[in-house]
Amino acid sequence: MSQNLVSNIQVFASALMVRRAAREVFYVGKIIDGKAIAAEIREEIAADVVALKEQGVTPGLAVVLVGDDPASRVYVTMKEKACEKAGIFSDEHKLPAETTEAQLLALIEELNNDQRIDGILVQLPLPDHIDESKILESISPVKDADGFHPYNVGRLVTGNPLYQPCTPFGVMKMLEYTGVDLTGKAVVVVGRSNIVGKPVALMCLAQHATVTICHSRTRDLPGKVAQADVVIAAVGRPEMIKGSWIKEGAVVIDVGVNRVGEKKLVGDVEFEAAKERASAITPVPGGVGPMTITMLLYNTVEGAKRRANQ
Ligand code: NDP
Repeated sequence: MSQNLVSNIQVFASALMVRRAAREVFYVGKIIDGKAIAAEIREEIAADVVALKEQGVTPGLAVVLVGDDPASRVYVTMKEKACEKAGIFSDEHKLPAETTEAQLLALIEELNNDQRIDGILVQLPLPDHIDESKILESISPVKDADGFHPYNVGRLVTGNPLYQPCTPFGVMKMLEYTGVDLTGKAVVVVGRSNIVGKPVALMCLAQHATVTICHSRTRDLPGKVAQADVVIAAVGRPEMIKGSWIKEGAVVIDVGVNRVGEKKLVGDVEFEAAKERASAITPVPGGVGPMTITMLLYNTVEGAKRRANQ
């Protein structure tokens, strides 16, 4: 073997070891540590924010809340705090429940034209008298940090994404950070919502997986799940996917968040039993959850980078 080849192999092997060591930080046993991955990405985001500020650009996220739904208030506060921590300008708009559709549209128009704002997020659900899709479509596609505008959905479908929805994007980042290569893998997504199931299926397809999307009318769900190298569960039913359905060695990503009793949160997958068969699995809480806000910050900063390069 030539000396050159030997040294190339050594370089490659040491690079591989560094990458592997980095990935091990994100596992505790088989458990994929969403908090650690989110913390790592948030550090990268904070460094990007510092670099952008040096160029005179402060990333800005506008968060709009209509009404006083307690869960929405909690989410909005979490988003504001996360922005603050990352050095992102957070522009909050807390509007009364009786805000009219016209008033909300006028505010969005203002934010679309506000040079300080890179991302606009309207917290859902909106009160019944406001047409949700009309509002989402009024957000400028280049400030659509949630990735729900039909323009951004279309770009995802055609394989040329601009903004990608935060929860499925977070799932993809988790797979990336834990070193799961989807090429040629059988991925089964359980759930076909516009915010999780459908977009995550498209994202897996873009990474060359063979994707099956299951839903409430799917026949033989256990049989479908049993074929999967990667299972992504986004159903909203506590522990509906049984551990015994999981193929030995499969990777399991559980997006579900279900409250059981007063305080306990569980996912859509029967965690303890699934863990016995999976090669890697996300817990609930502490899995996909911390990724969603992280990807919102990520999208906002990507928007600011585009502004900086204009
Ligand atoms: P939706 O209620 O919008 O969608 C649920 C999907 O599950 C639907 O496609 C439905 O099928 C399917 N489904 C329901 N029952 C069954 C069944 N028995 N067998 C197979 N499929 C079934 O939920 P979301 O996508 O909004 O959310 C899913 C879960 O993810 C929830 O627990 C939610 O709380 C959680 N979530 C977590 C986030 C996070 O940050 N971690 C963010 C967003 C969501 P059909 O279409 O036929 O009705």
